[in-house]
Amino acid sequence: MIDFRSDTFTLPTSGMLEAMMRAPVGDDVFGEDPSVNKLEERMAALFGMEAALYCPTGTMSNQIAIKAHTQPGDEVICDQNAHVFVYEGGGIAFNSGAQARTLPGDLGRINAQQVLEAINPDDVHRARTSLVCLENTSNRGGGSCYELEEIRKIREVCDAHGLILHLDGARLFNAIVAQKHQPSQYGELFHSISVCLNKGLGCPIGSVLLGTKSFITKARRIRKVLGGGMRQAGYMAAAGLYALDHHIDRLADDHRNAGIVAEAMLQNGLAESVLPVSTNIVIAKVSNRYTPAQFTEVLKQKGILCLPVSSTQIRLVFHLGITEEMVNITVDTMRNLSKAGSS
Ligand SMILES: *Cc1c(COP(=O)(O)O)cnc(C)c1O
Repeated sequence: MIDFRSDTFTLPTSGMLEAMMRAPVGDDVFGEDPSVNKLEERMAALFGMEAALYCPTGTMSNQIAIKAHTQPGDEVICDQNAHVFVYEGGGIAFNSGAQARTLPGDLGRINAQQVLEAINPDDVHRARTSLVCLENTSNRGGGSCYELEEIRKIREVCDAHGLILHLDGARLFNAIVAQKHQPSQYGELFHSISVCLNKGLGCPIGSVLLGTKSFITKARRIRKVLGGGMRQAGYMAAAGLYALDHHIDRLADDHRNAGIVAEAMLQNGLAESVLPVSTNIVIAKVSNRYTPAQFTEVLKQKGILCLPVSSTQIRLVFHLGITEEMVNITVDTMRNLSKAGSS
């Protein structure tokens, strides 16, 4: 099977497994796991931030950040399709007792003017706006990337109104590679950042939360409360260290492959349109020959897995489990389906 359902389906490579086997470990709740400590130090240094916290999932990283940055009754500004709002089980309310103010962004990206207009006045009737969450790349936006300049403008709005700016950077390395940025350029602009290791970087689990020392101290306490204090987590952190060395530059291959398959779907009339392919995600509006569910089934018969994501769209995600040969097979399959449809 060629599995385009998500970059969460990636399996550790043999090199990664070996690195995990060799990892020196200790009890991380006591701060004694050298591999976890190394990963946290290395990520903080890479992003030019003071400190880091290794978490089991990106959802937990985001939820810890929201909890640390807000008080019950506060309002969190985010895009209407943001993972923190749509895919974290109502966690903003469940964990923090806060509510979301969702904005209609451009492919998942909100802008500084929208943020400015969404800030509540200091009025007893209104929730206190305290936090802005951006997502880069945007999952539901088809892997779209923010321009640094727009983030800078949003940060200025935040500074002028005493708001905290958090980045859900589950796929931040995809944006960094695609736009040839440096991680520190993001570290400068955000108060906190969560970065997933379990997506395109190919680790079985893990996410890293970044911020100031005092923020991470607070975050460490919240992680424990949520049940996320892990013991010999260094076996997993070692996978993260390996990924930083070996799986970042290759993200460019995923981006190129995504473009090739998107083009093949358009050229063969299987997609009516495709959201701009900026990174490793293809969201295609299927042509009226099929519903998304039917098209997904047709592809499955040919050994290709993807996900229907709306009543008109399917999603294909590219990652280190997708080889060049698999891309060629997928392109051939699209061509054959097109012929089959026209005969
Ligand atoms: C995957 C993802 C997360 C976190 O997911 P986990 O499975 O909890 O690690 C957060 N934000 C976005 C945008 C994601 O795509």
